[in-house]
Amino acid sequence: MKAPYRLYLNENQIPDAWYNLRADMPVLPDPLRNPATGAPAGLEDLTPVFCEELAKQELDGKTRYFDIPGPVMDIYRQYRPSPLVRAYNLEKALGTPAKIYYKFEGNNTCGSHKINSAVPQVYYAKQQGLTALTTETGAGQWGSALAEACAYFNMPLTVYMVKVSYEQKPYRKAVMQTFGADVIPSPSDTTNVGRAILEKDPNTTGSLGCAISEAVEKAVTTPGTRYVLGSVLNQVLLHQSIIGQEARIAMDMLDEYPDVVIGCAGGGSNLGGLIAPYMSDKLNGKANPRIVAVEPASCPSFTRGKYAYDFCDTGRITPLARMYTLGCGFIPSANHAGGLRYHGMSPILSKLYHDGLMEAVAVEQTRVFEAATMFARLETILPAPESAHAIRAAIDEALRCKESGQKETILFGLTGTGFFDMSAYTRFNEGTMTDTIPTDEQLQASFDTLPKVPGLDD
Ligand SMILES: *Cc1c(COP(=O)(O)O)cnc(C)c1O
Repeated sequence: MKAPYRLYLNENQIPDAWYNLRADMPVLPDPLRNPATGAPAGLEDLTPVFCEELAKQELDGKTRYFDIPGPVMDIYRQYRPSPLVRAYNLEKALGTPAKIYYKFEGNNTCGSHKINSAVPQVYYAKQQGLTALTTETGAGQWGSALAEACAYFNMPLTVYMVKVSYEQKPYRKAVMQTFGADVIPSPSDTTNVGRAILEKDPNTTGSLGCAISEAVEKAVTTPGTRYVLGSVLNQVLLHQSIIGQEARIAMDMLDEYPDVVIGCAGGGSNLGGLIAPYMSDKLNGKANPRIVAVEPASCPSFTRGKYAYDFCDTGRITPLARMYTLGCGFIPSANHAGGLRYHGMSPILSKLYHDGLMEAVAVEQTRVFEAATMFARLETILPAPESAHAIRAAIDEALRCKESGQKETILFGLTGTGFFDMSAYTRFNEGTMTDTIPTDEQLQASFDTLPKVPGLDD
């Protein structure tokens, strides 16, 4: 009998705890540091900005499992478990002896895995009695995920959306507004930072760094309000472990174990979540799968970045994290359309990569869209450009297997759908998409802006 195309677990098989990979790491990632003093950040540094429970999760490198609260499980059950799919058609078209599986996280309105962390973040804020949240969004994926979660828990949300996206992505904005969020084009006249920038340059199209600064200012100056972030942080990887744990259960049911696990990496949250149980096996000596991060050649944090302390935001206001980074001032070339534009990388993944426990590859966007188009036609899902980075790498691995005749099992994360990214697809279809790879000089200029850490660098 042919194994199923799609394996859906039933609701009761959704894991009821998040898995904290840090508990199994022989050496923990370096701590967050206060940029003014260089001292490791403690709860008192984090709680003015983040809600308490999340700040605790952020700092906890010991607790192996965190129970998923009941109300969070309730909403998880509305769109999870997500399917594990065998890409039979893709395998056939490639003529590979490899088996290709993907875990699809796009089956919800926001269209990506980001909702997995948005839900608990809003829940804990509600528990703490907070009365509003703020965040920033660039392309709009995180903003829509958070708006969806805020609607569910009846939590007011202000989203600072980079002005150029606000104007160019009206449907993302409409999704957020439909869920009840207040969406403000950034820079705006609602904050000091925004007003100062507008005064200098009234026609600016905005930047992610500026939107973060506005969202943080709004949070710390409004009583009962906190700021929330959708990637990079340890707490976000913790929540995303739901992806990997479900994948593991489904693969086990099929009696399969991946030789290679692949995921796209922007800030690292979906990849950190997908690989969690497999990295755990690797750390505990139970198995030795290859783990591969895929990033854009135009924003190559792992493959060409430095392992250094840096700000998590372009506005230079967050604590410092030690991570692979291109420098917080790095901005990918304007013709980059594939997402994954973040300058840094999750400190957990950075540590694992630095210690040789995982690999990374950088891929050019025209090859990414080639893979996306092939995948869409064969597998019936129109992938997000971000997700298509993982597809590209999975196809390359499958072709390597074809060459060598190896019957490997490949698992990759398909993080979402690309319906709001059609202008990028249009550029690819019309043949106007190009690849721009930063020069060493450009990267060096960005590295030169890395902060000095008091006490470490002087
Ligand atoms: C945001 C996003 C990503 C990248 O974020 P990570 O934190 O690296 O997982 C990948 N895919 C989709 C669809 C996204 O929306």
